Amino acid sequence: MSTITPAKTQPTTPITTPVPVPAPVPAAVAANGAVQGPYGHAVPSYLQADHLGPWGIYLQQVDRVIPYLGSLARWAETLKRPKRALIVDIPIALDNGTIAHFEGYRVQHNTSRGPGKGGVRFHQDVTLSEVMALSAWMSVKNAAVNVPYGGAKGGIRVDPKTLSLAELERLTRRYTSEIGIIIGPTKDIPAPDVNTNEQIMAWMMDTYSMNEGATATGVVTGKPIDLGGSLGRRDATGRGVFTVGARAALHIGLEITQARVAVQGFGNVGSVAARLFAQAGARVVAVQDHGGTIYQDGGIDVLALATHVQEHGSVAGFAGAQSIANDTFWDVDCDILIPAALEQQITAANAGRIRARMVIEGANGPTTPQADDILSERNILVLPDVIANAGGVTVSYFEWVQDFSSFFWTEDEINARLVRIMTEAFDGVWGVAQEHRVSLRTATFIVACKRILHARELRGLYP
Ligand code: NAD
Repeated sequence: MSTITPAKTQPTTPITTPVPVPAPVPAAVAANGAVQGPYGHAVPSYLQADHLGPWGIYLQQVDRVIPYLGSLARWAETLKRPKRALIVDIPIALDNGTIAHFEGYRVQHNTSRGPGKGGVRFHQDVTLSEVMALSAWMSVKNAAVNVPYGGAKGGIRVDPKTLSLAELERLTRRYTSEIGIIIGPTKDIPAPDVNTNEQIMAWMMDTYSMNEGATATGVVTGKPIDLGGSLGRRDATGRGVFTVGARAALHIGLEITQARVAVQGFGNVGSVAARLFAQAGARVVAVQDHGGTIYQDGGIDVLALATHVQEHGSVAGFAGAQSIANDTFWDVDCDILIPAALEQQITAANAGRIRARMVIEGANGPTTPQADDILSERNILVLPDVIANAGGVTVSYFEWVQDFSSFFWTEDEINARLVRIMTEAFDGVWGVAQEHRVSLRTATFIVACKRILHARELRGLYP
């Protein structure tokens, strides 16, 4: 295992100044048919202007950045609409002989800096607005860590737990075939996300390859190691969370060996982040997952907990800690809080109760904009998802590069490169936040949006 050894920096004050979001203006239709939404954006007709969902949150985040873009702001509209959104019908035969239809999406938000890159989510609540927002956050994330990708995301409205393995395979293969017209190793490279895994990536790779008539390992990342996957990919997101967390701790003078850590979600991201913080000497005092919440003031044995979760499916019932009520998780006395489960967990309702000095967003979109402002006013530093959980896509990039060259690196090489990229990216964002006195989220958007729009400007408009 490699750990980071960042240069000592002077403790600095957490960055707290929120930039006001412009007040919503009523939706309107211009004479040329363009629809203006509640934030003054041209809203596509396929979204409801008065109910934009996650895409509306993303648009608010973009608005906070525009004042910092200088002359590149003239291209900012590019960020406010996806380049391409494909909606597909996915009919499959169920095991009982009936035919079921599912709705699927693949959205490419921006490809100015390279092919689209982003996961595929299988969830019954997936919407076009959500996939659009997630694709845009991928554009920002990829530009923030400076990997040569645009942003994309996909999803199917399905609860995969209701399908048999054979049905899941048919669903995955038909979806892959339907979106096959816009994905490819040099066009758009999907990866796992919520409820998708290495096996699903293997089916996607095989389906695409069958349709193309040649094995194309580089069409997806997050594949099994034996099919061109990368060492280190499984731990990459949690490792990135730890890397930026340790770096930020240095900046604010927080000693990791003295730190108390609370983690929501003990899956891929949460369990690895918890393990790395514990290995660095921190005490993981609370863990919550879908089954319950556990607390141990002296520190939870994270490795023993991982074994328990493997055997029982949840942290609930772990003998090495006491069970506490789920809602009290937000009151736990800790220095570092890591949301690593779902979206919109830190809200206006609980942000005032959080006692951490620092929140590291392992999950995508765990903090609502209102909660973001409350944390900021309370001097709680938020390391935003668009940089904090970029470790996964960074090692996905390594996987893609290795697939192209058919030459595979050691895990130590991968971890060292991951830590270098995450550290450099985080330091760059920290400097911008200090310079403009803005939150790390806005700073990450500034760095990323400038890169995207600079590429847009250099390429120019076609034709
Ligand atoms: P996972 O499925 O491995 O783990 C999810 C965890 O969340 C589980 O421990 C689950 O019990 C817990 N959880 C579910 N519902 C909960 C609830 N209501 N309350 C508390 N906990 C609950 O997923 P993951 O891959 O670890 O992803 C977690 C988050 O990180 C997601 O937002 C995902 O988009 C994001 N993310 C993941 C990666 C990656 O590489 N895996 C990369 C970037 C971002």
